[in-house]
Amino acid sequence: MTLRMNQTIVLVKHPQGAVQLDDFELLRDVEIPELKDGEVLVENKWLSIDPYTRPRLDKETPMVEPIPIGSVIQGETIGVIVESRNPQFTPGDWVFMLSGWQRYYIATKQDMILRKLSETTLPKSIFLGPVGTAGRAAYFGMQRIAKPQSGDVVVVSAAAGAVGSVAGQIAKMAGAYVVGIAGGATKCSYVVDELGFDACVDYKAADFKKQLRRACPEGIDVYFENVGGRVSMFVAQLLNDGARVPVCGNVSQYNQPGDMGASGPENFFASLPSAPLARFFLVTQWFKDYPESDEWLLKAIESGQIKYRETVYTGLEQVPQAFTDLFVGRNFGKQLVKLE
Ligand code: NAP
Repeated sequence: MTLRMNQTIVLVKHPQGAVQLDDFELLRDVEIPELKDGEVLVENKWLSIDPYTRPRLDKETPMVEPIPIGSVIQGETIGVIVESRNPQFTPGDWVFMLSGWQRYYIATKQDMILRKLSETTLPKSIFLGPVGTAGRAAYFGMQRIAKPQSGDVVVVSAAAGAVGSVAGQIAKMAGAYVVGIAGGATKCSYVVDELGFDACVDYKAADFKKQLRRACPEGIDVYFENVGGRVSMFVAQLLNDGARVPVCGNVSQYNQPGDMGASGPENFFASLPSAPLARFFLVTQWFKDYPESDEWLLKAIESGQIKYRETVYTGLEQVPQAFTDLFVGRNFGKQLVKLE
């Protein structure tokens, strides 16, 4: 029998607009049940903190399953097996799973997501970032929808973030001219100087529209959509005929009340007089192809073709802060919480 106690972060109220720290509560001393046959107990080491969790905190959501009051906030994690009653896993194995904002997690035999981490000399946290959901969203959005080619002008929003940074670098590898959009001069310098984009435009600048037009004098062939709202409206005015718009996310709208489905960027782009190919996607639709994306991304990172950055907070009590900070852009690259 285990003597360990769990700590979990649960939802205590549905956020009204911007998420507040007291929408969550940290519960300590939560009893961990004894393992049954086929189960493993995992101690989480790294938590992925994601903007796409925000819509799930609302009471009703059109596109995703809401998280009920009192429940642990869901999310991807990596950790170490500490007890096992499943012959496929041994204490000490590092695993990836969907265990959420908590220290310990019991995975059952039915847990389809649970898997051992691949061997790599890179830090294990990459499996929550550029070789996790963020990298895969960039990979499939670019390779399966946008299909950038040499000579294309590709614009990527939230370009300094986890998905955007990888998406832009994939387009560069395909020979495209790549323009990022990010909040502030420091992020824009990072996007150009460190990630190798051709240009980056600060959407918070008063002359954003003028700067974007100057950065894309021949229009835009691909727009990788991460943010929606005002940024999309300006980008839309520069789209060339036949443009492709993979709609990955809509982060500027996540704190707004209302029907996200109806007001999503794919509907906005579809309503334009010369509508581009705008396709909303969820990365899980390519679940069976994850081995392909993971191998490609891992190789590209190991060879230095794709660079990445992480913003790391330490301790479970920092999770609500790390989450709210995503919506004011305090992160560079993948937002993570490390548990010690
Ligand atoms: P991220 O880009 O690392 O972090 C979020 C960034 O969004 C912030 O750093 C901030 O950057 C920007 N932002 C926040 N509020 C904004 C606003 N009001 N207007 C414009 N930009 C704003 O997060 P991520 O995990 O990589 O996610 C990026 C997008 O991909 C999100 O929309 C997410 O939901 C989506 N996503 C979709 C899938 C899928 O399967 N479709 C999978 C993963 C992620 P600045 O400082 O530059 O403003």
